[in-house]
Amino acid sequence: MPRTAYVNGRYVPLAQAAVHIEDRGYQLADAVYEVWAVFGGRLADAEGHFARLQRSLGELRIPTPMSRQALTTVLKEVLRRNRINEGLIYLQISRGVAPRDHAFPAEATAPAVVITAKPVDRAATEAKAALGVSVITQPENRWGRCDIKTVGLLPNVLARQAAREQGAAEAWFVDPDGLVTEGASSNAWIVDRNGVLRTRDTRANILRGVTRLTLLDVIAQAGLTVEERAFTPQEAKEAQEAFITGAGSLVLPVTRIDGALVGTGEAGPVAKRLRSLYIERARATAI
Ligand code: PLP
Repeated sequence: MPRTAYVNGRYVPLAQAAVHIEDRGYQLADAVYEVWAVFGGRLADAEGHFARLQRSLGELRIPTPMSRQALTTVLKEVLRRNRINEGLIYLQISRGVAPRDHAFPAEATAPAVVITAKPVDRAATEAKAALGVSVITQPENRWGRCDIKTVGLLPNVLARQAAREQGAAEAWFVDPDGLVTEGASSNAWIVDRNGVLRTRDTRANILRGVTRLTLLDVIAQAGLTVEERAFTPQEAKEAQEAFITGAGSLVLPVTRIDGALVGTGEAGPVAKRLRSLYIERARATAI
């Protein structure tokens, strides 16, 4: 079935979907984005992603292009037109089209909105999750505002490519203090050698992952102990378990870090349990 995208008010076949070459997202990475997991044709963690989108737009002073209600309608229409039941939906909002100039364009410049969606084969991703994945570490070389979800992702692209070239699924950034910040497109977690769940606190220069936030609540409800406290790659290698979270990865066990086995080298029981609890919660609350 040919895929359909939404581009600035129109639903168009993906092959013909295009933005202007003077779109500031294309020219200057002057744009923000969000990604929602889709369960049963509905948006997972909808509120968290909408709230972060609003915050990202506000931090960059990009005008809000449409109300949350209108945006929800369009997101759902993209899912309907693409007949997506299980998948991912991507939204990008740039500061719009204007003659190239670093400073902001005229106030009347309308933000540009693009939405695409793709299906996910849940059976395949569950099989992958059951095995776990490898990560590598990379020096943190991103800008100081990783809390804003911008499309300026070049360091993330290079880190992920390095991971791929080393047969790994994700790269974890390590800051100058020797502490893991987060992954190229995920948050990083461990179950440390004392059995305590740990993930980096949000005072650090990381994205406040929506999956991370929901999982903190899932963890509390499950009666497990969690600390928002940094860890080193060495602590992660010596941990009982490691895993990553994100709208794409959900909760994905990590079995190797820089080639070293984590725990037994198998997907850990805590990560596997949290994956199923997270998915259960996301399915039940999706809108
Ligand atoms: N960290 C980075 C750098 C990301 O790009 C992402 C998602 O793309 C995440 C963390 C996870 O965020 P979320 O759970 O909101 O998808």
